[in-house]
Amino acid sequence: MQVYPRKRIHGRALVTAGLCFLLSLPPLSRWKALWLLPVIWGAGAVWFLLFLGKYRVRLAIMARGLDPELRKVLEKKVSFYGALGPGDRVDYETQIAVFLQEHRITGVAGVTVTPATKVLVAATAVRLVFRRPAWEFHDFGEILVYPGAFTADGHYSVNTADSDAAGMMHSQGGVILSLPHLLQGFEADNDGFNVGYHEFAHVLDGVRPDGVPGELDLGSYRPWVSVMQREFEKVHRGRSFLRNYAGTNPAEFFACAVEFFFEKPVEMRERSPELYLQLSRFFNQNPADSPDAFPTSPEPTPESPPNT
Ligand SMILES: [Zn+2]
Repeated sequence: MQVYPRKRIHGRALVTAGLCFLLSLPPLSRWKALWLLPVIWGAGAVWFLLFLGKYRVRLAIMARGLDPELRKVLEKKVSFYGALGPGDRVDYETQIAVFLQEHRITGVAGVTVTPATKVLVAATAVRLVFRRPAWEFHDFGEILVYPGAFTADGHYSVNTADSDAAGMMHSQGGVILSLPHLLQGFEADNDGFNVGYHEFAHVLDGVRPDGVPGELDLGSYRPWVSVMQREFEKVHRGRSFLRNYAGTNPAEFFACAVEFFFEKPVEMRERSPELYLQLSRFFNQNPADSPDAFPTSPEPTPESPPNT
């Protein structure tokens, strides 16, 4: 994500000026309608300034930087952050601060969402778009943090035996995360599970998730589908390194693969170089060569976490 996308802003300025110019042509030919000119250009200026407002806020955030207390949370909990160079750390911090400004994170059923929890939520979301300047999370709705696993229809109850979901992208908008599962994702960051990566991968996948995210460039479509389909079938035959839940449908396959890609990249590269390559190109990241990458685990990936 690019915090201040100059090209996009300049493009909007040109489009605004062009529209105002075209709308000004009829009044220019009739002197009695000249009074419309300041109205047209004034409306254009307001339209552009409304667009620019978000980016002016981002500039202020960039100048202020991330709260030092939140930086300590990243240092303590997020190994990816620790492996970044100084410049990339500042970029990551800034993108996290912007994400927190632009997305509402709310505790539900007694959960008090602390700034530390919020920064961990943002840390997972931002990692997905970190190396893609043109990508931004659209307004996907509120992020709700539950005190534990919840039911498949998104309800939390301490007495519900079928509460087996740790995360969800709601079809009506919004993301639900179970707080203990989110935290567990950082406590064990090389086991192939991170509900944050999983749910925000669903968000990237789009409002009708199908395992082919909207940001995928056209030239990558055919190899992407071919590679994903082959590994998806392996999941169904019980011969994949991905957990069985990845075989639920193509959207879950993509989200589970993204979790594995960021948590166990060395193992994915060894066991399916072509899947690793597709995800590496898509995210423009090479986590297997990162200093925080763990070597291949001899343990098979367990099927322990709840559905996501
Ligand atoms: Zn899922």
